[in-house]
Amino acid sequence: MLIFKKVADLQRWLGAERRAGKRAGFVPTMGALHHGHLSLVHAAKAECERVVASIFVNPTQFNDPKDLEKYPRMPGQDIALLTSAYCDALFMPPVEEVYPPGRNLTLHLDFGRLEQVMEGRFRPGHFSGMATVVHRLLDIVQPDRLYMGQKDFQQLCIVRDMLRQLQSPVGLVMCPTMREADGLAMSSRNLRLSPAMRGAAPAIYRALQAAKNEFVQGSTAAGVQAQALNYLHTAGLQPEYFDIVDGVTLEPVQGYADAAFIVACAAAWAGDVRLIDNEVLKP
Ligand code: AMP
Repeated sequence: MLIFKKVADLQRWLGAERRAGKRAGFVPTMGALHHGHLSLVHAAKAECERVVASIFVNPTQFNDPKDLEKYPRMPGQDIALLTSAYCDALFMPPVEEVYPPGRNLTLHLDFGRLEQVMEGRFRPGHFSGMATVVHRLLDIVQPDRLYMGQKDFQQLCIVRDMLRQLQSPVGLVMCPTMREADGLAMSSRNLRLSPAMRGAAPAIYRALQAAKNEFVQGSTAAGVQAQALNYLHTAGLQPEYFDIVDGVTLEPVQGYADAAFIVACAAAWAGDVRLIDNEVLKP
């Protein structure tokens, strides 16, 4: 696998590949890779002749400086995992390559309610920071396709809206959430869970499954939500939200007939680690 730290070097290689007719698939990550990330690389490999992954812990999307500081970093292991997944190239830039001093690359797009609900309520500024870095990375890599996980469902909706607003030709591919055997969604943050919280965390997945069963059988969103929040508290977690929303607008729904595509999205603290997950209730 080729490793690039400089934009110019990556672009030189990509330019030659493109001239040779190779399509590029792109998998942006913040590192501390797990099988969820690798599933994105596999999906990209299946559709594109060249796959570029990036590892960049984006300072502009962390509203809490402590969270940025505590974010796990393990480049050696990440390189080994990406190599084992036959990733063609890794872009691992220092901050000044992504945000060169003196250039204001902040993306000013209005995502309306998409960035205000759920994560938007608890992580102010997170999505504009995320959209800025995804936009910047897409500008650098210029891939044919972009691979992102359903695990970060709201992020995906915002990136989709960004591509629409910018009339970007990049194809966005949503990849299913990879889970541990007990249902916990794989996440780099799981590494920071204490043993007790690692035991408690799969309650998020169980709450989502229970919500799906009840909602499909006719319970109201409000009833399902109250039960799920209660369950998460009982399991020793501190939920921030458990929302049942229209999967396109992210507006809350009341019942099964209210939208064509419905998703339950949850965020909860497991000790000092914030976890998110979601489940499609109506495909
Ligand atoms: P991150 O490094 O957490 O920013 O994630 C990078 C990409 O991997 C994002 O598109 C995530 O949605 C995706 N991802 C993270 N966890 C998983 C998972 N468990 N299954 C599938 N994709 C994931």
